[in-house]
Amino acid sequence: MSTNTVDVVLIGGGVMSATLGTLIKQVRPDWTIEVFESRSEVATESSNGWNNAGTGHAALCELNYMPEGKDGSLSADKAININEQFQLSREWWSTLVERGILSEPTSFINPTPHMTFVRGEDNVDYLRRRYELLKTEPLFSDMEFSDDPEKIAEWVPLVIDRRAKSDVVAATRSESGTDVDFGALTRQLFAYLEREGAKMHLETEVQKLKRKADGTWNVHVRSRNGYGTTVTNAKFVFVGAGGGALPLLQSSGIPEIKGFGGFPISGKFLKTSNPEIVEQHNAKVYGKAAVGAPPMSVPHLDTRIIDGKKSILFGPYAGFSPNFLKKGSWWDLPGSIRAHNLGPMIKVGLTEFSLEKYLVSELLASREKQMETLRQYLPSARTEDWEMVTAGQRVQVMKKDPKLGGILQFGTEVITGAEGSIAGLLGASPGASTAVHAMLGVLKTCFPDDYTSEWEKVFKEQVPALGQGLNGRPEAAKASLERTTRVLQLGVDAPAEAVEA
Ligand SMILES: Cc1cc2nc3c(=O)[nH]c(=O)nc-3n(C[C@H](O)[C@H](O)[C@H](O)COP(=O)(O)OP(=O)(O)OC[C@H]3O[C@@H](n4cnc5c(N)ncnc54)[C@H](O)[C@@H]3O)c2cc1C
Repeated sequence: MSTNTVDVVLIGGGVMSATLGTLIKQVRPDWTIEVFESRSEVATESSNGWNNAGTGHAALCELNYMPEGKDGSLSADKAININEQFQLSREWWSTLVERGILSEPTSFINPTPHMTFVRGEDNVDYLRRRYELLKTEPLFSDMEFSDDPEKIAEWVPLVIDRRAKSDVVAATRSESGTDVDFGALTRQLFAYLEREGAKMHLETEVQKLKRKADGTWNVHVRSRNGYGTTVTNAKFVFVGAGGGALPLLQSSGIPEIKGFGGFPISGKFLKTSNPEIVEQHNAKVYGKAAVGAPPMSVPHLDTRIIDGKKSILFGPYAGFSPNFLKKGSWWDLPGSIRAHNLGPMIKVGLTEFSLEKYLVSELLASREKQMETLRQYLPSARTEDWEMVTAGQRVQVMKKDPKLGGILQFGTEVITGAEGSIAGLLGASPGASTAVHAMLGVLKTCFPDDYTSEWEKVFKEQVPALGQGLNGRPEAAKASLERTTRVLQLGVDAPAEAVEA
């Protein structure tokens, strides 16, 4: 057993650890950072380009960020909030490109229109009302609406091709949408961290976390490279282990993790790389989830750009495996059950019928049934052009609720504890898109004095919208979108006028 002490240990080589480590380097370049990743490379789980849908979630097309109230009312608040969070990511990535920390932005972010497509009178009416409300908001000002199939066919020909003339349809389109390869972004951020002296330990699994009397953490790791078990002592630990975060936070013994459980659902997509189809489609087209279906079931037809190659994904379909990670173990789910989370998990099991019904119907769906769902969006789809691929595991968070006993949590949950010496992230959505917002939140909570006295100033230089928002400041919103579009799409040397063109 060997012991050394470092300032920061990042567990997991995904986009969250990469983002947090890079943010820390901006304000404390002298801090020692060690990264532990159980696989032989970084970004092989949820952050890998093929393991998520790559949507830069800005609520431009996802209806679940603007649900209709029981009385038919609509509020733009949640959609604006998600969009504001994504603008923080865009601004920070732009700064990193300008400073040479990230290179070739098109290797990780590409302009891809975000569309919503709905069928049926009621849904068309809802989409129109949603559009009327959003089009006056500065961050949504480029949104267009049409209920004319010919216009929609100009945007996405394959969605209209061979569709029954009797179908009542409508769509919105925002040209400012993006497709993001979070895997490529993660790899670039870790490469920067390594250049800046962070130590990367690949094929090294963290087994448990134990707090010492002096408030630091002993991180027990097992190397697959034959170094056996070692202990690294850290002043601050971030558990960015994705599906592996729950068991590690449980091992830490912090009271804040009590009552949390997780239920894994595999994401699957139909994929085609047939150039004839791929070249005719350029958008992320989100639909409406069936009544009662969970938010993660919203169907979408996505242009993807990974390693410079275009393909189309449709899904997600759901699968089940008790693994918390794609390369995890069947013991993950049963091994995570504790006396403190059993009650909330049973309660969720007894009340979340819509999720259970959705899961069972997904597991029983035949290939033809899956193709039928795709044909609601792409009527001309031929079975032979599409293959089913398994994406990442989502560990749906369940937590104790004082009133209901246990609830299902669809968002991301940041857990911090032990006087801010440990933080971890549970849950999936809106996920990677809002990594900058989430990780700035971790730093603010865990290092409140440093954050307010020094760090916030540095971060505001890198992320001008931080703390001020953009939607309420139309001129600033316009300037921010123009800057990030210029840097991320056209390159740092492009003149401002090029954006208009
Ligand atoms: C099907 C699907 C679709 C999604 N679509 C989108 C989308 O369109 N847009 C979006 O913004 N987000 C999306 N997400 C969410 C997004 O992918 C995640 O929020 C994000 O990638 C999580 O990053 P992470 O760094 O927390 O975890 P991960 O990328 O999963 O990284 C965790 C890492 O920790 C390692 N690890 C685990 N346990 C240990 C251990 N004990 N010791 C050492 N290492 C360990 C793993 O090997 C892995 O490399 C989607 C997720 C899924 C599953």
